[in-house]
Amino acid sequence: MLTPLSLTPSFGFGDRFGLATPGHIAAVRGTGLAPIFAQQSVRENARTGRTPQQVLDEARRAVEAAGWDAPWGADADHLKSLDDLAPFVAAGYTFFTIDPGEHVDNAAASDPFAVLQEKARGVDQDQLAALYLRPDEDQPWGRFALEFLLRAAVKYGRAIEHTVRMYRRLSEMKEDFDFEVSVDETDAPTTPLEHFFIASELIRRGVRFTSLAPRFTGRFEKGVDYIGNLVELDAEMARHAAVTAHFGTYKISLHSGSDKFSVYPLLARHWGKRLHVKTAGTSYLEALRVLARLEPALFRRMLDLARERYPSDRASYHVSAEVDKIPPISADADLPALLDDFHAREVLHVTFGSLLGRFGPELRAALVKHEAAYRDGLRAHFKKHLDLLR
Ligand code: ZN
Repeated sequence: MLTPLSLTPSFGFGDRFGLATPGHIAAVRGTGLAPIFAQQSVRENARTGRTPQQVLDEARRAVEAAGWDAPWGADADHLKSLDDLAPFVAAGYTFFTIDPGEHVDNAAASDPFAVLQEKARGVDQDQLAALYLRPDEDQPWGRFALEFLLRAAVKYGRAIEHTVRMYRRLSEMKEDFDFEVSVDETDAPTTPLEHFFIASELIRRGVRFTSLAPRFTGRFEKGVDYIGNLVELDAEMARHAAVTAHFGTYKISLHSGSDKFSVYPLLARHWGKRLHVKTAGTSYLEALRVLARLEPALFRRMLDLARERYPSDRASYHVSAEVDKIPPISADADLPALLDDFHAREVLHVTFGSLLGRFGPELRAALVKHEAAYRDGLRAHFKKHLDLLR
C-alpha cells in the first residue's frame, strides 16, 4: 500500500533504471523498516531521462509482482522550487523532500559583525531574543547567544521562508504526506544549535515535517563509507539526537546513506527507531557488479567512458576519488574487485548520467538477462546495511 510512513523507521532505495525493486524487497522483508521504493531527485530524473510517473510506475509494478502488501512510500527527492512539486503530486508521491539549500546564506556564518547587522535589518531581534535567549539554561545542543541567533537568522531565514512556502503549496495540493527538510548539501555541517533553530522556526510557522536531514560533520561521499572522525561524529550525533528528542515530532534523516557501514551503528544507537536513511548510488553500483562478473566486455567499455567523463561529471558532487588510482586490470577476472575499490566506485558512481546516456539500453538488457543475479546481489548488499540498523 503506497502511503505516507509518518514516524515509522524507514529506508529509501533509489533505483536509477527501474529494475532494482525486486532486490530491495528481498532485502527489506522482515526487517521492520518501512521501505521507500521510488526515490528520485529532479537532478537524477534529468540525468536518467525518466519522469516521476515512470519511476513510480516501475516501482509499483515490482511491488505488485512480488506481492509486497505492507506500506511503502515514494520520495520526491531534493525538490528545490514550487514548480518541482506538481509532477510528483500528480504521479502520487507520498514523501516530499524539500531542499532549500539555494536559499541558505553560507557567508553569514563568518560575515563581519557590521555586515551581519546590515543583513539582519528585517529580522525581529526582540522576538528572537524572547524565543531563544535563556541565559540560565544549558542544553545538550548548546546555548544561544544574540550574535549566534543573528547569524542563524540570516543564514537560514530565507531557506526557512522558502520551506514554509513549499509546505503551504503542497498542503493545498495534497492532504496527507511525509515532509522532509534537507539541508545536507550546504557548505558547512549543520551544528546542533542550528538544527534546533531550524526545527523550532519551522514548527513555529506550522510546518509539520516528518524528518529532517542535517549535514553532519565529516564527509559522506557517494557509494563509499564515511570519511572522518567517528568519535567526533558520535559526539555530534548525541547532541543532534537531544534536539530531535526535545521536539519529539520528527525522524532524523541520513542522506548519501549508501555504504556508510561505520555510521549505521551510531544512528541506531542515538535514534533507535526514529530514523530515515536514503541510498541511491549503491544499487546502481550493484548493477555494475553484475556486469563486471557476467558482461565483462560491456563493463570495460563503461569503465573507459567513466574515466573519460569523471573530471567534468564530478563537479556537482562531493567526491575525492582519482582516476589514476583505479587499480590496473589485466584479466576479466580482475573486474569485479573494482566494485570494492574506493576510486573505481566513486568514478563509476558520479558518471552514471554519462554512462546511461551512452549504454542505457544495453545496460538494461543485461540486467534483465541477469535478473536473478542482480536481485541476489542487491539482497546481500542491503542486508549488510539493514542489519546494522537493528
Ligand atoms: Zn540529500
